[in-house]
Amino acid sequence: MSSYVVTCDFCGTANRVPAEKEGKTGRCGICHKELPPLYCRPQQLNERTFDPFIKGYRGPVLAEFWAPWCTHCRSFEPAVRRVAEMLAGTAAVIQVNTQENPGLAGRFGVRGIPALLLFRDGRVVDQLSGVQSSEAIAAWFHRHR
Ligand SMILES: [Zn+2]
Repeated sequence: MSSYVVTCDFCGTANRVPAEKEGKTGRCGICHKELPPLYCRPQQLNERTFDPFIKGYRGPVLAEFWAPWCTHCRSFEPAVRRVAEMLAGTAAVIQVNTQENPGLAGRFGVRGIPALLLFRDGRVVDQLSGVQSSEAIAAWFHRHR
């Protein structure tokens, strides 16, 4: 059974959270305040769910914009899944299907896919374009910490 570390943003305690609790808000074992929800797999968001998710999640969000017809996006998919596991408890990784949600791609000026947008406090702070390794994505993410 896999578990992930979710750090309490009130007292800094590292809490072990089992993967089955994905998306649920638990409580810190020490200070009992609410922990940010754990996301260990990319969450599929659309025009209806995107804004509530970005506003509701307290940590940084990595959003991958992709399309099902794009071979680059398909080859990029395993790296996106690995990054979601690597950053579980620290950041949420989400995916936006641009074919089904062209409005979101337009709103954030996404022209080429795959594209990764890093959100902090609801705003885009950087963008990474094209197929990357999970290590390169993690390094890019940590440069913005
Ligand atoms: Zn705590």
